[in-house]
Amino acid sequence: MRFSTKAIRVGQQSDPATGSIIVPVYQTVNFVFDDVGKPHGYEYSRSANPTRTALEQCLASLEEAKFGLAFASGMAAVDAVLSLLRPGDHVVSAEHIYGGTFRLFEKVYVPRGISFIYVDGTRPEAFAGAMRPNTKMVWIETPANPLLQLVDVRAAADTAHKRGAKLVADNTFPSPYFQRPLTQGADIVLHSTTKYISGHSDVIGGAVLTSDQAAYEAIRFHQNAAGAVPGPWDCWLSLRGLKTLSVRMRQHEANAIAIAEFLSGHAKVIETIYPGLPGHPQHKLAQSQMDGFGGMVTFRLDGGGEQVRRFVKVLKLFIFAESLGGVESLVCHPASMSHATLTAEERKKVGITDGTIRLSVGIEDVQDLIEDLDHALAAC
Ligand SMILES: *Cc1c(COP(=O)(O)O)cnc(C)c1O
Repeated sequence: MRFSTKAIRVGQQSDPATGSIIVPVYQTVNFVFDDVGKPHGYEYSRSANPTRTALEQCLASLEEAKFGLAFASGMAAVDAVLSLLRPGDHVVSAEHIYGGTFRLFEKVYVPRGISFIYVDGTRPEAFAGAMRPNTKMVWIETPANPLLQLVDVRAAADTAHKRGAKLVADNTFPSPYFQRPLTQGADIVLHSTTKYISGHSDVIGGAVLTSDQAAYEAIRFHQNAAGAVPGPWDCWLSLRGLKTLSVRMRQHEANAIAIAEFLSGHAKVIETIYPGLPGHPQHKLAQSQMDGFGGMVTFRLDGGGEQVRRFVKVLKLFIFAESLGGVESLVCHPASMSHATLTAEERKKVGITDGTIRLSVGIEDVQDLIEDLDHALAAC
């Protein structure tokens, strides 16, 4: 099966008990035992639940992974991957990562004896230079939030593997439709399924996908032991969203390309960042390791915070909110929102100026979206 077929069919056979075409919401805690020591199938919904199994199998197939595990949030998925580490272990991370991931590293895992070093992910040699004998993981996010820098997945995988470390890729931004890092050497892929995978801004979720059996078993153990599992309704909503992932991603991208072109020709925009623009410093890498450029567009307004306030006030269609990947268009101000937990110094270091604006381009009519932006830019 090809991608779009898998998204609709894998793990989603008609229900054997009733013939239901759609995987039911198995809203139950427990399952009957046939005999002493013989569960009929499932036992207890923290350990496994049939609606969750359907989602896990479907996501695994889309990432070309052998195994899939679903979590209650993207951060629970990040945390489950970090459960592979022990005190004394070291992680080499790209510096451009989701703010919540950085916070988890620094505020939760550093006090538990794990150390992290942050490198410029756009320079493959930076990873090699930071590796230590106790480095167990290389952590990447590509394209990264919010400045859309890319990491060369194959080069990062080679560096990690040479030193016996695993490459972990947060694949939330491109979704598996545009990029499948396991096919390029990554060992573990994770998602905030809250974003494109669910796609309708109505469910929080996460997932870990891998073909590494030992890693799968350890993360699966943690999933059951720590219990940050999604409920059956959340899994069902994610499965429903997933069915249209292909068509949504194609439209997100078409709209994003048109908007990136509009912004890059606008006098009040000092920089437009989109991997699909030929001027993006890693446009060639994007063409070679991705199947498309995604739906996120970042740009910088001249004049900083005051202009940003004006801009978002005037917008009518773009909604001023956190998150991304839903069918509706969103605008966010990373300096005061997703990256507010960074100090001003840390933000400066990673290039998030006060005038930086990130768009999650939705799938509304693109002409309406461009008119909205044009109108708001005129007010700046
Ligand atoms: C949103 C996000 C997360 C965290 O996921 P939640 O579902 O909000 O817990 C992790 N990584 C990236 C890239 C994200 O965008």
